Amino acid sequence: MRLLLIISILLFFTACTKQNQTETYTNYSGEVKRFSYYPPGELKPETSGPGREDDNRIYAPDIRFPLESAPAYINSQVYGVGGMYGPNGSLCDQRNYKYPWNDNYCEKRSWSMPLCSGGKGHQGVDIRSSTCEKRKYYAVAVEDGIITYIGTYSISLRGNSGRTYRYMHLDGYTLQVSVGQKVSRGQRIGLVSDNMGGTSTSIHLHFDIRQTIKVGGESKQIFVPPYSSLVDAYKRLLQGRP
Ligand SMILES: [Zn+2]
Repeated sequence: MRLLLIISILLFFTACTKQNQTETYTNYSGEVKRFSYYPPGELKPETSGPGREDDNRIYAPDIRFPLESAPAYINSQVYGVGGMYGPNGSLCDQRNYKYPWNDNYCEKRSWSMPLCSGGKGHQGVDIRSSTCEKRKYYAVAVEDGIITYIGTYSISLRGNSGRTYRYMHLDGYTLQVSVGQKVSRGQRIGLVSDNMGGTSTSIHLHFDIRQTIKVGGESKQIFVPPYSSLVDAYKRLLQGRP
């Protein structure tokens, strides 16, 4: 009987750890930070699309997390509370500002995406800043590089590694960079906002990574899964060594 109880408790905890991974960090100032996240490719809710499961590769090792400060929350803007297909409520609902993170690369979109099931999906991930306030939190360069493009709501940084990173929806009036400017890792780029050119979106940073990899034996420059790289970078940020 007791053995059965122990086995069921063990099974329960195994099920929990399979669901999401929780880790605790102590940073240099002795603060304890808890962080939990669902595995790469596990999209929430399931109706938001098939993610790229079982691809745990860190495509961009050693990048800095693209937001200057923690906490930050990776989750769906479209299927989250207040989103177009999400539960009714405010985009600022507290449920959008908590862990665990969930991946939203390959979420349902019409973009052509060779690495997504069905060949279409979201090109990157959406990240909410610490709170639902716009023009307060800085997005920063993830590695040393050069600013190659600034559009109405999209900025490209080509890193020295050869990878290109896009930052979207930053406030257009307070940008800290210009085209052709060299930037160093951690340097401020702009403030997280809801800018979508003439119209607006939810307050978040869309971040994606383009790099050349082999797909079907052919070298192609494509949008690669950013989630694992961001989990890795975020852990370093929490540890106080971004
Ligand atoms: Zn996005």
